Amino acid sequence: SPSALADIGVTGLAVMGANIARNLARHGHTVALHNRSAGRVDELMTKHGSEGNFVPSASITEFVASLKRPRRALIMVQAGAATDAVIEQLADAMEPGDIIIDGGNALYTDTQRREKALRERGLHFVGAGISGGEEGALNGPSIMPGGSAESYEYVGPLLESVAAVVEGAPCCTYIGTDGSGHYVKMVHNGIEYADMQLIGEAYQLMTSAAGLSAKEAAEVFAEWNSGVLESYLIEITSEVLGHTDAETGKPLVDVIVDAAGQKGTGRWTVKSALDLGVPVTGIAEAVFARAVSGSRELRAASRGLAGAELATSLTEIFPGIDTESFVADIHSALYASKVVAYAQGFDQLAAGSREYGWDLKLGDLARIWRGGCIIRAQFLGRISDAYAANPELPSLLLDPYFRDAVESAAASWRRVVTVAAQLGVPAPGFSSALAYYDSVRAQRLPAALIQGLRDYFGAHTYERVDKPGHFHTQWSADR
Ligand code: NAP
Repeated sequence: SPSALADIGVTGLAVMGANIARNLARHGHTVALHNRSAGRVDELMTKHGSEGNFVPSASITEFVASLKRPRRALIMVQAGAATDAVIEQLADAMEPGDIIIDGGNALYTDTQRREKALRERGLHFVGAGISGGEEGALNGPSIMPGGSAESYEYVGPLLESVAAVVEGAPCCTYIGTDGSGHYVKMVHNGIEYADMQLIGEAYQLMTSAAGLSAKEAAEVFAEWNSGVLESYLIEITSEVLGHTDAETGKPLVDVIVDAAGQKGTGRWTVKSALDLGVPVTGIAEAVFARAVSGSRELRAASRGLAGAELATSLTEIFPGIDTESFVADIHSALYASKVVAYAQGFDQLAAGSREYGWDLKLGDLARIWRGGCIIRAQFLGRISDAYAANPELPSLLLDPYFRDAVESAAASWRRVVTVAAQLGVPAPGFSSALAYYDSVRAQRLPAALIQGLRDYFGAHTYERVDKPGHFHTQWSADR
């Protein structure tokens, strides 16, 4: 005999789906369960069936029949073709007014396509970005749901009830229509790439330039975690660097192969930024730095390239500098570069919002990222405040708090980039962030010359500083 009808159903019970289902049940919701292969339903019921009210089902039809109306079904399967297949099965079994939520890492253009197709069939489709990995899914993720405003009335309260909570507010809010939730989650992941790259560069400079051991670097990051850099990523950096390999007794980080993987959201972010013409150099450098790290053959073949001109120590570059003050410089470089990376990421969100008509509330996005997700940090509260003070802020770099923060970090930031260049320690994140900062604050850029060249070979015309209009010059007599 069927138990009470379920408030929501979860289909796809691998690690993320199972944890979200348990989180929902722990918050008092009755949760229908389904998975392509029945084993995962049985496993969840056996291990965690006592945590709340679950309604297991063996088929999609049974699953859909076990849901209260309007039906709410959350899909947590692999992004791409698997998600399309499950949507199709659900849509066939559902009725107009029902709501399908995709909590996977879908590409936002797929979400736009799916939302349109389902809307035409009378169904609501919510593309919900869910951040925080397995632990977040179980204990409170950051949730970014996009879809019709009407669908949020049905699913918003449920999702908000299981999201992380910061200062009494859930880390979940209505994002905007169609693909906006997945777009925001994508840029979140892109920012996460940039954040991790910058942390990686800070670590490498601490060890290669300042001569710290991994253990000492772990202590520095632990200390930094109580200041302006306080964040989940800085906290776990300290733990990873402090971890000793049980087999060799070495720091585990020295035993791990230095080739970074990626699943695609960083690349998607950069592709979108290129299409929108937004310079997200911090995210792009991070994606490319991972690609370089993974180019094993190129790296093996290039290890013999010379570097005879390099300095051999910090004091050779800056006489009298001590380790402690250089580590403080690295802190400033990391903070300033992080401000640039976030400023660029938020610029991309604003551009995406304009392009797709989403009316994104940038301050709200920063607010719901303060908890549950991988980039959670105190810092995001400052971003939220900046947009509250001025929703039309052209760049975070122009907010008084961040402007002052970067200004007071600048001398240190330049020292660090100098040291990195002179010692031959790659710091693409730090140096490109500094180049971006210097570019946007420059009086004149060499783009004037580029315009001249373009007009020379292609008659592309240029504008003048002293009068309006578009001009072409006859550059040489024989052309
Ligand atoms: P996953 O490994 O991405 O997917 C496995 C699940 O997909 C299983 O339930 C599997 O069913 C189902 N599945 C695959 N192909 C299917 C098909 N053709 N038809 C029906 N079901 C199919 O699982 P995950 O790591 O838990 O992630 C779930 C989603 O959340 C993904 O979109 C992922 O990108 C996203 N996400 C993951 C994380 C994370 O930290 N892992 C964080 C945020 C978001 P079977 O059991 O029958 O094989």
